Amino acid sequence: MAVIPVALAGRGYEVVIEGGLLDRLPQAAAPFLKGYGNGRAVPFVADTNTRRLYAPAMERALAAHNLKAEWFIVEPGEDAKSWRGLEKLTDWLLALGVTRKDHVFALGGGVVGDLVGFACAITKRGCGFVQIPTTLLAQVDSSVGGKTAINTAAGKNLIGAFHQPSLVLIDPLVLATLPPREMRAGYAEVLKYGLLGDAAFFAWLEANGDKVLAREPAALEHAIATSIAMKARIVAEDERETADRRALLNLGHTFGHALEAETGFSQALLHGEAVALGMVLAARYSARRGEISQEDAARATAAIAAAGLPSEIAALGLSRDGAALVEHMRHDKKAEGTTLPFLLLKALGEAYVARDVDLADIAAFLDGELAA
Ligand code: ADP
Ligand code: ZN
Repeated sequence: MAVIPVALAGRGYEVVIEGGLLDRLPQAAAPFLKGYGNGRAVPFVADTNTRRLYAPAMERALAAHNLKAEWFIVEPGEDAKSWRGLEKLTDWLLALGVTRKDHVFALGGGVVGDLVGFACAITKRGCGFVQIPTTLLAQVDSSVGGKTAINTAAGKNLIGAFHQPSLVLIDPLVLATLPPREMRAGYAEVLKYGLLGDAAFFAWLEANGDKVLAREPAALEHAIATSIAMKARIVAEDERETADRRALLNLGHTFGHALEAETGFSQALLHGEAVALGMVLAARYSARRGEISQEDAARATAAIAAAGLPSEIAALGLSRDGAALVEHMRHDKKAEGTTLPFLLLKALGEAYVARDVDLADIAAFLDGELAA
């Protein structure tokens, strides 16, 4: 078991990582269940998959403490993170009589977590919520740090708020049912932590990544705890991404978002897969600038390929050129007028924010990668 504090003045919270935690929900989340019982059910949000797989165990655990759950269920997929989905969820919360002191429980991947977090940020000007992330991606990344959002016609995650959860409960055992492709996509974000800030962790993943992907309990828990500890530290230093600290977490994401946009944010390329490709591109572009060696860029690429993640954008068969990808980047949330900060590598295990990157040079670099 690992307990990792997220140290934020006035709204600090804990991330608890333990196999079987779901069965001990009433104990693990006791302070946030106090207002329930005596006819008041605990509000839970899940998607159809996480409800089918994990609601029965949680209901049993709650029942043993005379608690009942009431469920709001969304369809799996990004469509749930919409204005319509937000409206339905907030209407449901208001109909339940949720107060600012209450906590809503989010059981699912990033979709459920982002939607519930945003709904709780604005319901009664802010009620509490507990994250119970069930994908590797959500466990190591989106459930911690308080970024919440929905998607709109203009793009993904453009409407949202910073709203920290009160508790994050991570049960690695739920990953047993996660489809392998989703597992690999989440693993891309695990590799990200090694590449951006921890050379020893990156080396550990090179040696033990197969055990993590095979969901061996000790390796998996170590990978999750190390990832979360780094994220918690960075978020505590720069909660709202106003310094360049939190931006480090975007390694691979500027290139990655352009690829996601080009493939229509579809199942053709999952977010984690796009981030994997984005990290390869960031490493190779850093090598092109002479900041890391070609050997280091090849090492980063090999770790990504070894996990079964895509590592060559030429293999995507995109019909457009580097300039078209750069055009997507100009619409990135992180764009600052006509320039764009790029997350590059000084070393494997040390990312930094480069503000002197010429977008025409990025387009030329991408043309080479697309043709490779
Ligand atoms: P992400 O965390 O990557 O944003 P989503 O919330 O979109 O992921 O979930 C990805 C898919 O995985 C969805 O179809 C969801 O229902 C499914 N899913 C989530 N957690 C589990 C799990 N523990 N076992 C099986 N499927 C899961
Ligand atoms: Zn990401």
